[in-house]
Amino acid sequence: MFFKYLGFTMEKNMSHICEAVLVTCEDFRLHQRADGRNYTAEFMRGLNMDCDLITRGGCIQDIVRPQLGFDNSLLRDLGVSVKLHDIKTIYLIGHEDCGAYGDFNFTERKIEFQQHFEDLEEAKEIIHAEFPTVEVKKYFAELEPGTVDRFIYKEVK
Ligand SMILES: [Zn+2]
Repeated sequence: MFFKYLGFTMEKNMSHICEAVLVTCEDFRLHQRADGRNYTAEFMRGLNMDCDLITRGGCIQDIVRPQLGFDNSLLRDLGVSVKLHDIKTIYLIGHEDCGAYGDFNFTERKIEFQQHFEDLEEAKEIIHAEFPTVEVKKYFAELEPGTVDRFIYKEVK
C-alpha cells in the first residue's frame, strides 16, 4: 500500500510495525558514550517496546520555534512513524542545559525548566492536532545535581 505524506511517497510494510517513537535532542550526552552510558537506550529499555528514534538539535524546537524551511520537517518524520510504522505513542524528551536553548540565557534553573515544559506542552498540542489518534507523552531529562552530563528522566504531567 502506497501513500503520500507531506510530499513523501511511502510504502507500508506490515512487518515494519513498532509501538512508539522517541523525539529527543541530538546532544551526545544523551546517547551512546565512550564510557558505555546511554540514557536514550536506558529509556527505551524501560519502555520495553520497539521504538523509532528521531534526534533533533533542541528536540521539539522545530515545531514550537521553527526556522524558515524547517517548519514541517519534524512533523514529516513523525508522519513516517505514525503512518508507516503505525506507532501508538510519541515520547517527547527535552533536556536540561540544551545548547539549542542557549539564546534564552536562563538565569535560573526554574525558569529554564518552565520554558521546556511550556514548549513540550505546545508541541504536544500541535502534534495531537496533526495525529489525533496517537498519544503524546512529555519527558524532561534533568541533570543530577553537581554534574554536567548525568541525566535523570522524569515524566512531565
Ligand atoms: Zn539539546
